[in-house]
Amino acid sequence: MRKYKSNGELETVICNVCGKKLIVERGIVREGVFSVDHAWDFFSEKDGEVHHWDLCESCYDAVLGTFRIEADVEERVEFI
Ligand SMILES: [Zn+2]
Repeated sequence: MRKYKSNGELETVICNVCGKKLIVERGIVREGVFSVDHAWDFFSEKDGEVHHWDLCESCYDAVLGTFRIEADVEERVEFI
């Protein structure tokens, strides 16, 4: 869950699972966060809804721990 200041700057990020308030400095999240912004489409029962939520890294790991099939993970190449 995210809150923004009146000027649009990110103010607060809270993990939707555990309620932990993540560290935000000058509008930037300073720790691991998994953010979802998902628009459901016609083929779902939530057509027209856009869901927004955030997980702290610990809750993300716990959710992935419930997967029967592991998530694909690759190293990201960073260009400088
Ligand atoms: Zn959490």
